[in-house]
Amino acid sequence: MPDRTVDYLLVGGGLAAASCARWLREEGADGSILMVGREPDPPYNRPPLSKGYLRGEESREDVLYRPEGWWDEHGVELMTRTSVMKLDTAERVATLSTKETVGFGKALVASGANVRRLRVDGCDLDGIHYLRAFGNSDGIRAAAETAERVVLVGGSYIGCEVAASLTAAYGVKCSILMLEEVALERQFGKEVARFFHGVLEDHGVELFGGDELDRFEGADGSVTKVVTSSGRELDCDFAVVGVGVTPDVMLARSAGLELGDTGGIRCSAGLETSAPGIFAAGDNCEYESPIHGRPLRLEHWDVAANQGKTAALNMMGRGVEHDVLPYFFSDLADWASLEYVGPGEGEPVVRGSLEEGEFSVFWVDGRRVTAALSVERSDDLEHARRYIVDGAPRDPAVLADLGTDLEAL
Ligand SMILES: Cc1cc2nc3c(=O)[nH]c(=O)nc-3n(C[C@H](O)[C@H](O)[C@H](O)COP(=O)(O)OP(=O)(O)OC[C@H]3O[C@@H](n4cnc5c(N)ncnc54)[C@H](O)[C@@H]3O)c2cc1C
Repeated sequence: MPDRTVDYLLVGGGLAAASCARWLREEGADGSILMVGREPDPPYNRPPLSKGYLRGEESREDVLYRPEGWWDEHGVELMTRTSVMKLDTAERVATLSTKETVGFGKALVASGANVRRLRVDGCDLDGIHYLRAFGNSDGIRAAAETAERVVLVGGSYIGCEVAASLTAAYGVKCSILMLEEVALERQFGKEVARFFHGVLEDHGVELFGGDELDRFEGADGSVTKVVTSSGRELDCDFAVVGVGVTPDVMLARSAGLELGDTGGIRCSAGLETSAPGIFAAGDNCEYESPIHGRPLRLEHWDVAANQGKTAALNMMGRGVEHDVLPYFFSDLADWASLEYVGPGEGEPVVRGSLEEGEFSVFWVDGRRVTAALSVERSDDLEHARRYIVDGAPRDPAVLADLGTDLEAL
């Protein structure tokens, strides 16, 4: 017999779990909810950690998903600094790091993702930062106060956002080292990504593309230099590495839940795992997207929040599919911001001016719009959502024409 039993067990104190708890209550579930999270903080939003919070514009309270008292007020038991060590899917019992055993009716595994760590010479030196949690952002903020030069390893969102934030808020000289030639080219292709690359350069960020980290060098135990495979040497007072994440499926794997091709937990369109009554949501969830007709796993704030809601509804027996079109946002300080819906393939069709920084991009595959990006043209994105979902053929030249009324298309 477990020590106690709850109706809903939510594993992970991040966004997906928090959203699930919220929607269980908003949709009228009156059973007991236990949310178990490994981190010391109540659920918070990670995007500001590389943006407003890192720049000192947002406080810890601003970044919390809900004010600290919300959980108690809504009858959600929140255990922080606690891990779920074992999940017995047949007996429906979880074992916590406190040794307590908890029986459950329905469960959500929302264990998120972990940063990829680089194992190169010098990787254990002090001053090499990764960014996932509050503490990491605090560490970078403290280091930035006295630093003159920083190297960002990785030309994706984290590297670009942090370079922009540190330049804008602390006047630190930032250099980005990346495998790709153009920052964000993996996300948007070279032509479109050149806009963001140019924005960074225009604000004094140095970018070194088509090169690879070889090693870190240091003095007195702290990093002082990043050395690349081509022999380039970049001096730094500290470094930030942003080279992607891997879904955290440790618990899921040991529980025998099926994993998918992306390494996430394989789920149905309703986000149910291979174990009936156990759901997944967020960065670790590979679901069968009814919109895309294929499995997807995404690391987006909006996706985690929406999947938490879908999971909540299905834990209450509503039987709904997760048919929300994935949405992503990012910004480079107040220099530029982007919104994206997708993911999709095809040729980019630009509407507006890349040079002037006011444009949208439709990715068109055989005349079907599959994804869209907006910089300063949010309205276009709303139309793109409809195009992606209805899948009707549309002429690229007409999409690109600023005279076209997208509403009528
Ligand atoms: C710096 C940063 C900036 C970002 N910016 C953007 C952005 O601009 N736009 C955007 O769309 N997305 C952004 N993201 C991504 C977005 O924040 C994530 O997609 C989202 O946080 C995923 O939520 P999650 O609940 O799946 O995972 P997480 O938020 O990682 O939460 C999972 C939690 O589960 C805990 N956990 C894991 N295993 C266990 C266990 N066995 N027991 C107990 N607890 C466990 C983990 O410690 C973690 O706290 C950003 C992420 C970061 C790190």
